[in-house]
Amino acid sequence: MVALNHGSQRIGPDELVVSLKDVPELSIIEVDHEQRFLRIGAGVSWDELLGAPVDTLVPCLTQAARTVGSHQIRTAGTIGGNIATASPAGDGVCALVALDAVAVLTSPEGQRRVSVEHVATGPKRSVLANDEFIESIEMPIVDGWQAYSKIGTRNAMVISVAGVAVVLSANSNSCRIALGSVGPTVILAEDASAFARDSIDWSTIEISADSLERIGELVQQAATPIDDHRSTAAYRSHSVGVLARRLIERGVQEMRNST
Ligand SMILES: Cc1cc2nc3c(=O)[nH]c(=O)nc-3n(C[C@H](O)[C@H](O)[C@H](O)COP(=O)(O)OP(=O)(O)OC[C@H]3O[C@@H](n4cnc5c(N)ncnc54)[C@H](O)[C@@H]3O)c2cc1C
Repeated sequence: MVALNHGSQRIGPDELVVSLKDVPELSIIEVDHEQRFLRIGAGVSWDELLGAPVDTLVPCLTQAARTVGSHQIRTAGTIGGNIATASPAGDGVCALVALDAVAVLTSPEGQRRVSVEHVATGPKRSVLANDEFIESIEMPIVDGWQAYSKIGTRNAMVISVAGVAVVLSANSNSCRIALGSVGPTVILAEDASAFARDSIDWSTIEISADSLERIGELVQQAATPIDDHRSTAAYRSHSVGVLARRLIERGVQEMRNST
């Protein structure tokens, strides 16, 4: 709607804008406790992601939702719209990539599942075909620790200058670090994630200061930020390194304290 109002996107005389607001199938939140699995309809709003059961099952998604826009935007905006917008600054996308979530895409030809990490192919570009929509997002419920953190120029109504989501899995002793606003799409920092996995002592749940430093460096290497009106590339690169290092440090500490 912003693009239409602004005139940067136009619709032809025979084209329609279709609201998905009242499609009940898109508003589901389904939990499979046995399979440790969560399915969220693409039409679920940010506001709905703030409460149960999402806040306890995938807290990093709730944390991301809390940072989006204003109360009005969180009431109207949806998680499906966040993915389809294909912005590298998508707060929900960053959390979902760290969660290893999958988007269920539906068209008259049927359904296909695409990792949320691979839905966007560049800024405002995605693998979605013209006749295809996002029906839901599926994700594992990960036991361990997770969080989302974002830097912006102010506290509210701000598109992120840099964002990081971290998911530490206590079951598979693994780590996923996703980076927002530091590349053409949200990035999974694979080398940093693998290094974090290998350098955490999972029996005592500890990590050394040197390893935390190295994680920050590897995250910076994964980032390919640009200068724009919101920030410089150098600041973005520095901030994702700091955010990732602090999140891993906090995650390890909180996991240890909870055992
Ligand atoms: C003032 C303002 C502040 C914002 N702040 C933030 C922020 O802090 N963080 C952030 O991440 N985003 C922010 N946004 C961007 C946006 O509002 C959110 O990303 C929101 O989640 C978009 O969802 P929507 O349902 O409103 O999508 P829409 O804006 O209605 O749609 C966006 C695009 O996605 C397509 N689309 C929507 N749903 C689907 C679907 N189910 N399947 C396929 N395509 C679909 C639409 O056709 C359209 O092309 C902000 C926007 C505004 C206007």
